[in-house]
Formats: sequence, structure tokens, C-alpha cells
Amino acid sequence: MKRLMLLGLLASGLVSAAPLNIVAAENFYGDVARQIGGEGVTVTSILSSPSQDPHLFEASPSTARAISGADIVVYSGIDYDPWMDKLLSASKNAKRRVLVVAALTGKKVGDNPHVWYDPATMPIYARALRTELIRRDPTHKGQYDANLKRFLAAMTTVSSKVASLRAKYAGTPVTASEPVFGYLSDALGFKMQNLRFQLSVMNEAEPSAVQTGAINDDLRSGKVKLFFYNTQVTDPLTEKLRSLAKQGGVSVVGVTETAPPGLTYVPWMLSQLKTIQAALAKK
Ligand SMILES: [Zn+2]
Repeated sequence: MKRLMLLGLLASGLVSAAPLNIVAAENFYGDVARQIGGEGVTVTSILSSPSQDPHLFEASPSTARAISGADIVVYSGIDYDPWMDKLLSASKNAKRRVLVVAALTGKKVGDNPHVWYDPATMPIYARALRTELIRRDPTHKGQYDANLKRFLAAMTTVSSKVASLRAKYAGTPVTASEPVFGYLSDALGFKMQNLRFQLSVMNEAEPSAVQTGAINDDLRSGKVKLFFYNTQVTDPLTEKLRSLAKQGGVSVVGVTETAPPGLTYVPWMLSQLKTIQAALAKK
């Protein structure tokens, strides 16, 4: 009887026989998809190399193939990964579901696109993904619910670390080579300087002399406590900032756009927070 029901559901398309195929533009979304989907999914992440500047990524034919065969596509949105919009419109598929994380969290074009650095983002994405997985594969609802619960519990270690650092260090002046760390810096209550300069670096544009002069001065004279250095978006200008930071006694905190190899989202965030804690403890 049960078997007949299952066959009926399979025929109606409500239950997928094979694992759901998820393609994530960035590896941290792919990682969370693996954690929520478990055995019910296979996951492909497109951006995962720590030596690559994601802002300059151009899709290859294999990326296009992966997307055309996906059941669920996840990407960040608001111009972080515009190649994704192009690939999706080039391969129409009525059954494919697309989760745009920036849209899920209410961000708009013009906002800082590095939305996964906001501690509030991943729980929202994880919940949306669970809903979508259950819609496609209701027989594994129990597993998806349990996986979501486990992930949300792990995320509380990040939020409590953020809260304890904020209690101690809110108001600390900091700066950065590029805005990747912006949301987490805001969550920590830091006073982020030189935002326009950072946006120019992100957009591969030439910062103005005034912007460059201001960040040079903040670093050289130690007016900020920390310098967040994006190790994935570098050029001679950002290299120079790093040496000015050393000159001014400003702690350099290396941060990345994509998750480093072997680190899932929560340990990745915790390791960055621990680096910050260690740097500030020395001040
Ligand atoms: Zn960036």
C-alpha cells in the first residue's frame, strides 16, 4: 500500500526519486545547502577558489551546463554575481527554483553585496532552502527539519561570539581594503572608515586622491585599530595599504570572499572572529 502511494507520488512529480541537484554560485551557500539537504541533495558550488577574485568571475560552458541541469539554484544577487542572471535567462527551465539570498534578506542593488557576512543572512537562507526542499521532496521532511535545527543551533555560536565581542569593542575605529567584511563589522559595532575607497577597489575603479590620502593617513598614523585586508581582491594599491598598516601598528586581519578550503560556514566565521579578538586583546 505504502509502496503504491509512493509510486503515485513519484508519478505526480511530488517526490523526486534521485537526489535534488543544487547549484550554488558561491561555496558558502553550497556548504549550507549540503548541511540542510544531507543525503537528499547533490551540491555543486561554482566560486570556491581562494585565489580568485569573485568580482571578476566569468562563467564557462561547464557553469552553464551545471545551471541548466539544476533543480535548485542559489546565488547572492544585487550585482555580486551578475553572470548568474545571464546564465539563468539563457537556459529557461520552469521546474527550476532560484533562491536569491540578497532578495530573501531584503537587500537592494547599491547595498553592500557581501550579504553572507551578515550573521542574520544564513539562517534566513537555510529556512528558505528547507521550505523549498520539503516542497520538492516531502517524504524527507523530518530529515530537513532536523538538519535545519542543527544548523541554526551551530549559528548561535556565531551570534553569541559577535555579541560578546560587541559588548567589549563596540565603537572601535577600523578600516578595510574592500567592503567584504562590512556587515560583520557593523554587527560587531565597529566604526568602519573609508567606505568610498573600499567601493572603488571592489568595482575595479580608481579611488580619488582624497579617498586614498584619507585611508593612507588612517593606517600610517594608527588612527584605526584593525585593517581588514581582503586577500582575494588585491592590487598594488591594496598591497601598499598593508605595509602602511604595519608601519602604523594597525593589526592586519586577512579576510576572504569565499570560504577557505576545508572550512564550513560556521567554523569559517568563528575563526575570523577569533583572529579579531586576538588582535584587539593585544591593543
Ligand atoms: Zn568583494
